[in-house]
Amino acid sequence: MNTPIQLFDTVSSTYTYIVFDQASKDAVIIDPVEGLIERDLSVLAQHGLQLRYAIETHAHADHITSAHQLVEHTGAKTAAPAGCGITTANIQMEHGDTFDVGAESITALHTPGHTIGSMCFVWRDHVFTGDTLLIGGCGRTDFQSGSARALHHSITSILFSLPDSTTVWPGHDYKGHISSSIAKEKTSNPRITDNGQLRSVDAFVQLMDQLNLPKPRRIDEAVPANLTLGSRHDAGAPDTTPHMAI
Ligand code: FE
Repeated sequence: MNTPIQLFDTVSSTYTYIVFDQASKDAVIIDPVEGLIERDLSVLAQHGLQLRYAIETHAHADHITSAHQLVEHTGAKTAAPAGCGITTANIQMEHGDTFDVGAESITALHTPGHTIGSMCFVWRDHVFTGDTLLIGGCGRTDFQSGSARALHHSITSILFSLPDSTTVWPGHDYKGHISSSIAKEKTSNPRITDNGQLRSVDAFVQLMDQLNLPKPRRIDEAVPANLTLGSRHDAGAPDTTPHMAI
């Protein structure tokens, strides 16, 4: 399989990804969303996949992960960035850690900024960027130990060091974009660039400081729930009002 399976949550505009090895059928899911477990299990079954890992890019503020529920159904292991304080994850990921999924290998990159522990995942010539880098945007940096200064470094020095042809798969999109490339984001992402040139760290910090975004509607519920991968959360009534977290 040369491209990931991309799944979308219309409520939080979250992308979930499944990567698998064609031969062994071992699979990993990235950023699964509560309430969509039936969909995800049926996609796994449809392709005859065995889920090995459920991994998180960060502790989300806008939706709750289904990682805990998914591993109960599949026997997979959970993995979360070590810096996120997600204490119940089976694996605490550090920068450079790799996961073998059959013959496929996925590498974790620590890319702080949106949150202090945020990670991106590289697989072949693809990168799953969570909320570190969005298509034509980036995650906000005004809560969860976020730092615009750190985000500028993560994007320009870590992600932009990947080959230009690397396909970018974001954690959210609110405008119908599917994927991008490092080359495209390097030259035209309006948060990071100005007239095709990278913004200086100070210019980026100033721009991020002036965003004045509203507080995410579910942050007070979602962050604590995500610190246990949804295991100590009573789902209650489904959340059906679309909202943004960036
Ligand atoms: Fe986020």
